[in-house]
Amino acid sequence: MALYVMKFGGSSVGDIQRMQRVARRVVEKQKEGHQCVVVVSAMGDTTDDLIDQAKLLSAEPPAREMDMLMTTGEQISIALLSIAIQALGSKATSYTGWQAGFRTESVHGNARITDIQPQRVLASLEEGHIVVVAGFQGMTENNEITTFGRGGSDTTAVALAAAIKADVCEIYTDVDGIYSTDPRIVPCARKLNEISYDEMLELANLGAAVLHPRAVEYAKHHQVKLVVRSSFNHNEGTVVKEEVKMEQGVVVSGIAYDKNVARITIMGVSHVPGVLAKVFGSLAEAQINVDIIVQSGVENGEADFSFTVTLNDRQKALDVIEGIRSELPYREVTSEENLVKVSIVGAGMVSHPGVAAQMFGVISKQGVNIKMVSTSEIKTSCVIESEKLNEVVKALHTAYGLDTAEKAFVGGPQVRR
Ligand code: ASP
Ligand code: MG
Repeated sequence: MALYVMKFGGSSVGDIQRMQRVARRVVEKQKEGHQCVVVVSAMGDTTDDLIDQAKLLSAEPPAREMDMLMTTGEQISIALLSIAIQALGSKATSYTGWQAGFRTESVHGNARITDIQPQRVLASLEEGHIVVVAGFQGMTENNEITTFGRGGSDTTAVALAAAIKADVCEIYTDVDGIYSTDPRIVPCARKLNEISYDEMLELANLGAAVLHPRAVEYAKHHQVKLVVRSSFNHNEGTVVKEEVKMEQGVVVSGIAYDKNVARITIMGVSHVPGVLAKVFGSLAEAQINVDIIVQSGVENGEADFSFTVTLNDRQKALDVIEGIRSELPYREVTSEENLVKVSIVGAGMVSHPGVAAQMFGVISKQGVNIKMVSTSEIKTSCVIESEKLNEVVKALHTAYGLDTAEKAFVGGPQVRR
């Protein structure tokens, strides 16, 4: 007998038929002799629809009320799933996030979990129930309702798995697992049998939308064994764990891309100590996350430098820089969109020289200029113009030996939800 946490995303519970399919799947698992805790997201596009409704009433709806609103989506799912399971003749109980014991910091919209008190979940399991828990929600010390950020139900599942010492945390989604790259761009992308936490973390942060980055961090920290698999078939998924066997000759495991990139360039800044600290300190104060930073050569005591932010933050960043012009004179500031960050990720990169050089070669063969580069031990990222993204990803996929003969199965759109 094993203890499973099974998480089903919005598309897996998108309508009543799908809800029933999930119920059958969970009951089947229990009949095999296992204990099951199920974490669910809101049905289909419910969360987006709720946000749209609030936006009709106010351009900036209060964060507290948004949490109040959004958590209703998951609450509908847990009740319906519990009803569906009981209709099949099994015992089930639904719990909201706070009933399941999720305590969080006092931040609306993106709260971190501070503590989990899963006694009620454990007691219901003891009584032979399938326990159904609402994803992405918790409560503060002062009994205020909070959410964990978009896609946060993955984090609920992983955190609960750690708290109740589950044997496995299964993330059921609309694709068969983690792919070497987006199968919509490269039809012969391969499904990975296993991947390490670190690689998965890079891929999740780099825009592979299947798993929420914070969930992967949590899984690594608590050594929760994760399996990403399809809710539409019984194929084996991808196992995410600490150590993975490296396949002979495979140095790069995956290729990710992120279209949410804007580049800002500040030209003609005097090259004196403290300039970078001033610029990036001001951006940080405005809560703007900066990704890649590149400073180019100094000429006549003046330097140019560029950095990237998300598209959403582009205007805000330009305003911040305009705001410090009197303290920090510069000649000109410009910004660019229509960019994409393409990244190769692989634990084997540390010990293999020339992997990044090969990437630059492949990209230049496509006639594409590389605008920025950043590297870590297990990844190399290049910012390029988005026009030739598909060609570049395909060429990289082939160059690193990732193509398979078969066409990948894609059960549905690979969107973050
Ligand atoms: N329903 C929430 C969202 O759409 C949380 C989740 O699905 O993980 O972001
Ligand atoms: Mg998701």
